[in-house]
Amino acid sequence: MPALAIQRFYDLGGKPALDRWLRLAAPIRDLYDAEHGARRTAELRSAILVGIALYNVFNFTSIVLLPDILWLSVALRVGLVTPVSLGLAWLIGRTPPLGTERSVLVGILNAYLIPVSLFWMTHDPFGLFTFGELSLTIVFANMLLALRFQHAVAFTGSALGVTLLALGTKADLPPALQAAFAVQITTACIFSLYANYVMERRRCGDYLATLDAGLRAKSADASRREFENLSHTDALTGLPNRRHLAERLDAWLARPGPMALMMIDIDYFKLYNDALGHPAGDDCLRRIAETFADFARHNDAFCARFGGEEFTFLIRDDASELALARCARQLGKAVEALAIVHPARADGISVATISIGAARRPEGTVIPAADLIAEADRALYAAKRRGRNRFMLGEDRAEPATEA
Ligand code: GH3
Ligand code: MG
Ligand code: MG
Repeated sequence: MPALAIQRFYDLGGKPALDRWLRLAAPIRDLYDAEHGARRTAELRSAILVGIALYNVFNFTSIVLLPDILWLSVALRVGLVTPVSLGLAWLIGRTPPLGTERSVLVGILNAYLIPVSLFWMTHDPFGLFTFGELSLTIVFANMLLALRFQHAVAFTGSALGVTLLALGTKADLPPALQAAFAVQITTACIFSLYANYVMERRRCGDYLATLDAGLRAKSADASRREFENLSHTDALTGLPNRRHLAERLDAWLARPGPMALMMIDIDYFKLYNDALGHPAGDDCLRRIAETFADFARHNDAFCARFGGEEFTFLIRDDASELALARCARQLGKAVEALAIVHPARADGISVATISIGAARRPEGTVIPAADLIAEADRALYAAKRRGRNRFMLGEDRAEPATEA
């Protein structure tokens, strides 16, 4: 049984998914009942109704076979078993699935006791011919009602025991007939119980195989998503990486609205590394990246690590000069507020700062992604030349969009 994925997804408490009594482990059984409970109830109901109809056909054969206890036979079938079985058909589906199965077991056991008792009681020589009804009832329980295997074992065992007892104690029954009837009923029990086992094993096996395949597909899908996520994420900072940036930039440029791209570079980062070492440099990158991620989350922006100590922001909807300047000011302040001490700067500033260059794609214009990046990069280097820790906006190089 390929239960590997099932074991991975469900805590079966160390039990097998399907035990030797063909019982599904608790969480899987609950799942099965949730998926198939309604259909099982419908099938049981129609089987019970068919069973009641056939059961009452024997009222007519009783006229010939059980003349001495005809009215008792009719009273038990029509007055007892039929209303109880109809009540059962109404009840099932209104109780939990295990309760339903147990009620059906008790119902069929009671229904079986009637013909056994009639067979035992009658003194009419034709009464022996009612014995065939017992085998039919056992086949009905195990194959049409398709009792759960453990219930089928309980029913078949009880039915066989009661029948053998009736055969052993019935008055005037010759030993040869006793033996023949015993063989008859035993073979009916074995045959129908075996059929029940095969059907039940197939039902549970098919369900487990389907469940397993579904879980494997789910697992493969999760792995694919995880891989996709990893392939889009920068390992050091957890920010989207360059590949993710390229995809997002293409997607945003394909939309008609205004947008802008900001290139951000940490000032004098080489000196920071030289003074404090690369692990401290990594830490600085992570902290600044966290600040950027936070800003992006709150401003419907997209932030990626472009590479090294450079980051890229994509901003949409409001890409006006004013909005970009405000954005840049907030980002600069947020980085300064981290107060990451930079001991090696010679410009009088003692903490890590950033320089920002931006390029815009106003509404109704088009520009290739590479040109937008190049323009923002030019603006960034202009900011560096002018002393760092500042923001510069590049020239608008976007062209008016032409109607397709
Ligand atoms: P500027 O103000 O002109 O940007 O000067 P800078 O020193 O920041 O620029 P430069 O390009 O000279 O140096 C960038 C440094 O960033 C050099 C490199 O060692 C460092 N760097 C790039 N990636 C990483 C990284 O993943 N971790 C660490 N610790 N350092 C990195
Ligand atoms: Mg750089
Ligand atoms: Mg730098």
